[in-house]
Amino acid sequence: MDRREADRRSGPVTEADAALDRGGVVDVVVVGGGQAGLAAGYFLRRAGVSFVILDAQIGAGGAWRHGWESLRLFSPARYSPLPGWWMPPQPGEPFPTAAHVRGYLADYERRYALPIVRPVEVTAVGRVAGGLEVRSRSARWRAGAVVSATGTWRRPYWPRYPGRFGGRQLHTVSYRRPEPFAGQRVLVVGGGNSAAQILAEVSTVAKTSWATLRPPRLLPDEVDGRVLFDVASRRQAAVAAGRGDDRGAAALGEIVMVPSVRAARERGVLVARPMFTRLVPEGVVWPDDTLGRFDTILWCTGFRPDLGHLDPLGLSTVQGVPATVGTRSVDEPRLHLLGYGDWTGTASATIIGAARTAKACVAQLTAALAA
Ligand code: FAD
Repeated sequence: MDRREADRRSGPVTEADAALDRGGVVDVVVVGGGQAGLAAGYFLRRAGVSFVILDAQIGAGGAWRHGWESLRLFSPARYSPLPGWWMPPQPGEPFPTAAHVRGYLADYERRYALPIVRPVEVTAVGRVAGGLEVRSRSARWRAGAVVSATGTWRRPYWPRYPGRFGGRQLHTVSYRRPEPFAGQRVLVVGGGNSAAQILAEVSTVAKTSWATLRPPRLLPDEVDGRVLFDVASRRQAAVAAGRGDDRGAAALGEIVMVPSVRAARERGVLVARPMFTRLVPEGVVWPDDTLGRFDTILWCTGFRPDLGHLDPLGLSTVQGVPATVGTRSVDEPRLHLLGYGDWTGTASATIIGAARTAKACVAQLTAALAA
């Protein structure tokens, strides 16, 4: 008699039983079907445990469904493998497009027949007798362990500044292409790769300014994703060998000089100024009290982990994210967090990093399930 059958025999069929029928009882529920969720699925399948991947979107690709049109990988396809099957190169494109990455993720799901249910928005993960319960609006799943791999894309971060701007404001999450900004005065805010890449293309059709909290840290031209991944690999090996966390890549810089960003530098538009002090209807006030007039402010200010479904677990946080050792939650050892950023494992928000982190995560989780 399985657990669900045992539950059924203990009383009349309730609304909750019906919801469990629409879901099920499995060893592991993975919440999120982007690259990190798929990497977890690959290792869970190999481990021979029962699992399901619940994803809120209508199709494959995770965050790669949403980027701007020119978004590409920082490196050739062979530097971004999920476990088991390398990303095929994209003919004529040394750095694959987002559409190519989406296609690879969709093919990967099919190749390994991963049990993905879409669209399912997980609303809550809570504790029940003997395990965890994962709930959507119409179904629930019982599991011995949960892997949360929900990424950051759905939680754009907008910093607050005093005052009110009268023009248009948008975040990276809504930016698609430069043409709608033709002829405008556009302020790009943010010091990372998204800001640099978007500034580079918007500046071909608009008059741009760039505001950053700290001076942007450009990588040397010859450093692309390949070098960053090599540095990340050395860093992971150093941590694993107990030699400490040498943040080599961070020391190099953070903005990858992809061709469009290099071209922007050649045109003299890759020049950042310190953040403004307040917003005014016409634009912003710079630290020297001069007025900057703009039609649009484009906030390329990053994202935060999408973790609202974990609220019922009451997890404590360290620097704004749940406390973890590796991927395992400190407060709820049956919960693992995968992807998101370096706090769950070296480079774990990248494809190759997610693959490595998922391997360790599943090994730990299945050992605990078997204990
Ligand atoms: P996601 O891809 O966001 O997937 C999470 C999934 O979970 C989504 O499908 C989401 O809908 C779902 N979800 C969220 N909440 C719920 C819920 N409550 N219930 C059910 N489902 C839910 N990475 C690289 O590897 N190489 C690169 O070269 C690279 N270049 C980049 C360049 C730029 C400019 C940027 C901005 C990013 C780049 N990235 C790169 C990073 C990469 O795009 C993301 O970090 C990556 O997609 C994160 O994968 P993930 O699986 O963790 O999350």
